[in-house]
Amino acid sequence: MLEANFMYGPVRSRRLGRSLGVSPIPAKTCTFSCIYCQLGSTTQLTSRREAFYPVQQIVTDFEACLQMASSFDTVTIAGQGEPTLYLEIGDLIAALQERTAAPVAVITNGTLLGDSDVRRDLQRADMVLPTLAAFDEASFHHIHRPVPELNFADVIQGLEQFSQVYTGALWMEVMLMGGINDDDVSLQRIARLLQGMQYDKLFINTVVRPPAEPDVEEISPGRMKAAVQVLGAR
Ligand code: SF4
Repeated sequence: MLEANFMYGPVRSRRLGRSLGVSPIPAKTCTFSCIYCQLGSTTQLTSRREAFYPVQQIVTDFEACLQMASSFDTVTIAGQGEPTLYLEIGDLIAALQERTAAPVAVITNGTLLGDSDVRRDLQRADMVLPTLAAFDEASFHHIHRPVPELNFADVIQGLEQFSQVYTGALWMEVMLMGGINDDDVSLQRIARLLQGMQYDKLFINTVVRPPAEPDVEEISPGRMKAAVQVLGAR
């Protein structure tokens, strides 16, 4: 396994096979501080996009990894926070695609998709994987503890807009937590939100690694079965 400034892995990903990771943002820089985050609490809570590092610096690291890395299935831009905060993510995606035949995926919390610049940038990715967990404004604040300027309705609208224009593979993920969003009513509300989005696959996930808040729990196998039915996982 390689460790370099902007690269990690390849790691075995449940969704993406052997995934070579690219992190274009400083540690724990995010628009959210989710109660289920496996990285702990967010230290840089922000919605301001920045060119944290030059694209070329990240690409140099990537090229070094290509020399050393064992085989991988996907290049995944994610990192310790929200990667669309990286202002140059569109150019980074293009630069990575020029250097590998593997698909370039972006894992995102979807909060900045209301911004047309972000939608344009992510249009260049081969795959985009947004996560959904909240079903209304109150659950949005409880689960995600967002930067103050974000609101639930705008985030959902951004996801809908992006899903309607994106031409790559859109794989939605729903993150469920025991006693928080896994009851029937919550699942039905999440299902209604998903109906407004056009996506290729739906993954249902739960808390499997230690979360930021220790009382956040995984859901039971019974609730997972119910979720698969109600949400229509693909
Ligand atoms: S969006 Fe992702 S990185 Fe950001 S706090 Fe939530 S789980 Fe952690």
